[in-house]
Amino acid sequence: MTQKPYRVLLYYMYVPIENPEEFAKEHKEFCVELGLKGRILIANEGMNGTVSGTMEQTNQYMEKMKQDPRFAEMIFKIDEADEHAFAKMKVRHRPELVTLRLEDDVNPNEVTGTYLNPKEFYERLQDPDTIVLDARNDYEYDLGHFRGAIKPDILNFRDLPQWVRDNKEMFADKKIITYCTGGIRCEKFSGWLLKEGFQDVAQLHGGIVTYGKDSEVQGELWDGQLYVFDERIGVPVNQKEHVIVGKDYFTGEPCERYVNCANPECNKKILCSEENEHQYLRSCSHECRTHSRNRYIAQHGLTEEEVAERLEAIK
Ligand SMILES: [Zn+2]
Repeated sequence: MTQKPYRVLLYYMYVPIENPEEFAKEHKEFCVELGLKGRILIANEGMNGTVSGTMEQTNQYMEKMKQDPRFAEMIFKIDEADEHAFAKMKVRHRPELVTLRLEDDVNPNEVTGTYLNPKEFYERLQDPDTIVLDARNDYEYDLGHFRGAIKPDILNFRDLPQWVRDNKEMFADKKIITYCTGGIRCEKFSGWLLKEGFQDVAQLHGGIVTYGKDSEVQGELWDGQLYVFDERIGVPVNQKEHVIVGKDYFTGEPCERYVNCANPECNKKILCSEENEHQYLRSCSHECRTHSRNRYIAQHGLTEEEVAERLEAIK
C-alpha cells in the first residue's frame, strides 16, 4: 500500500499554560510558518488540536512540540489523507478546552475515570452490568456509535451533566463507560461522574480514533462512521464490517451524507441523499425552506414559482 501524501493529527493535553492568549498567538505563527492548516484551542488548562499537513510538515510539528516539556508526553493520533483537511489555520484562546460549563470545574490530572485500552473497552462493551454512554453531540452519534451505546437526549455536550442528573435511576448499580472522538471530552466528563458520586467509571483512552486503529479489536462493535471536525466529516472505524446507522432525515433510508440546513439562522446538520437535498431545498423544516435568506434557493437561483412547485411536491 502506498502512503498518502498528507496527514491529519489529533491531539490534546491537559497541562497548565501560562498566558494562554499570548501562547495562542505565537503558536499560530509557528503553525502558519510550517504550512499547517487546522484548528487548535488553547486554554489555561491545556491545548486541544487537529491539524493537517504533509508528512514533513506534521513531522516537524510533532518534533518541535515534544521539545517543549509541557507537551513532551503528548500523544498524536495520525490519519493519512490525500490533501489538507482544513481550509485555514485557526488557533484560538478559550476559557475551557471542552465546553461543559461546570459550576465546579474538573481537573482530569486530579480526577478522571479509569483508562481502558481498546481491548479492555471491547470486553466491557459486552458486559451486561455496564452502561455505555456516548459523550458527544447528537449529530455525531447519529452518524455512528458503539453498538448498544446510550445516546443522551441532548443537543450539546455541555448539557450532558444535567441530563445525567435527570436520569440517575438509569445508572443505579451499573458500571459506566464513556467514549468520545479522541478522548479529551471523556477525561473531564468521567471525572465529573466520579465527583458526582458514581463509583465505577471508566473511559476509552485515546477515544474512538485509537479504537479504530487497534490491530486487535479492529474497530469491532462500532457501527457507522466516526464524525470528525474537518472537511472529511466521516471516517471509517470498524475494519471488519460496515453497518450503516445513519438515517435520511426525510425518508429514514440508510444514509451517511451530511449537509447543513440552508437557513443560515438554523444551520442544523441533516443526513440526506442528494435527491432529497434538492427535493427539500436542503432545509430541515417548512420555516427553513421559506426563510427569506435560504441559501439553497439563492445558490440555485430558484424563482418563486420553482420554490412553490417543490413545496407543493413534498406536501
Ligand atoms: Zn433548519
